[in-house]
Amino acid sequence: MYSTTNKMSTKRKIEGAYHSWIRKTQAVGWCKLHRCCLTQNQLKQKGCLSKQCKWLVKYVGHDYWKRKEQIKSLRKARKERLNNILKNRLF
Ligand SMILES: [Zn+2]
Repeated sequence: MYSTTNKMSTKRKIEGAYHSWIRKTQAVGWCKLHRCCLTQNQLKQKGCLSKQCKWLVKYVGHDYWKRKEQIKSLRKARKERLNNILKNRLF
């Protein structure tokens, strides 16, 4: 007899395949303009990010974007800390 808990829903199956495909290709996104999936290197080469290419679809589940967000928030926190130090020195 099959246990129902072992059965994956179709949605989860698709998600699983999607994530394993991303891992396999090392792609961090897809560009509708260039019509190709982009790895971190390709992203830099084509300049999709620096040009703020509106056709770029990010794979937000990818660690690359998570790291980017982390770095962004760390920088923000550092800036705020520095600002506070400067403020304290000025007054
Ligand atoms: Zn692009």
